[in-house]
Amino acid sequence: MYLLNKPLITNLWSKVVDGENEKQLTRVTVESTGPYKYMLKEVSGGFLLECFGVEINMPEGRLEVNDGLLQDISIEQAGNDAARVELFLDHPAECVHVLYNDFPCRLVLNLNRAFINSLLSAKKIVVDPGHGGKDFGGRGQVSLLEKDVVIPIANNLERNLKKAGAEVLLTRRTDKDVPLDERAALATSANADAFISIHTNASADRSEVGAATLYSPHDNGSKELAMYIQKEVIKKLRVKDRGSTVQQVLGCLGKEIPAVEVEVVTITNIVEEVFLRGLTIQERAAEGITNGLIKYFACGGPSAKGDKK
Ligand SMILES: [Zn+2]
Repeated sequence: MYLLNKPLITNLWSKVVDGENEKQLTRVTVESTGPYKYMLKEVSGGFLLECFGVEINMPEGRLEVNDGLLQDISIEQAGNDAARVELFLDHPAECVHVLYNDFPCRLVLNLNRAFINSLLSAKKIVVDPGHGGKDFGGRGQVSLLEKDVVIPIANNLERNLKKAGAEVLLTRRTDKDVPLDERAALATSANADAFISIHTNASADRSEVGAATLYSPHDNGSKELAMYIQKEVIKKLRVKDRGSTVQQVLGCLGKEIPAVEVEVVTITNIVEEVFLRGLTIQERAAEGITNGLIKYFACGGPSAKGDKK
């Protein structure tokens, strides 16, 4: 007879969902065995949900989200019959809450992602699957070819960026050979705000692992863009951080367009080859790149681009 007892908070999760008019929301759901009193406050860096007359019946602590808006959530018991749920945000957002008094009872917090849309809505991003056709790129020890993973990752990235409001141009949609100068020309003629080439690392040393993000030698925001993307990709993939360095061939994009090459993992390592075959990594790599782009545009991408030499 749970109804006679204190309600218990049993579950907590977060998901990016399509709201009204196809506007995306970050939706946090707090599930409990019954209703309770609560107060939602805007605090510096996010929101604080104070819950009264309730007990936590799930692991306490931090839950990492990293969806581009919501960094993480913490949940903790605050005294005998109160709980605190904190939402830590990367960017400002409005929060609307609704309590569904069913069983289980669900308190739903909808955070709007309008800020992200405002950052990306006027942006043109060229997404370049780095290989196709005869040019298959790296090859794994089992049989996986680089071209067979960079195209699905690029497709996921295109979908994420379009949902966030950006205009996206792909340098190839199918498994065909397109020379780099043609792919670069597409970005130049479109006057793109960023060029993102997707690759995997390949090494003669089969024990080498990890992800890296390389950048154009021009001082035009490419290095900053690479730093943001690398950091966010590592958060999502949890692989070894091989850092960032200059990639001379990206210089062909010119001084106008920040350009990076993301090596999502190392295809020549057998563990990472197996990892690469999974749809999860293909999704998560695209999420990491999207989050890096959002941070870049939020933290000075346009000003860096304006600072041309
Ligand atoms: Zn490659």
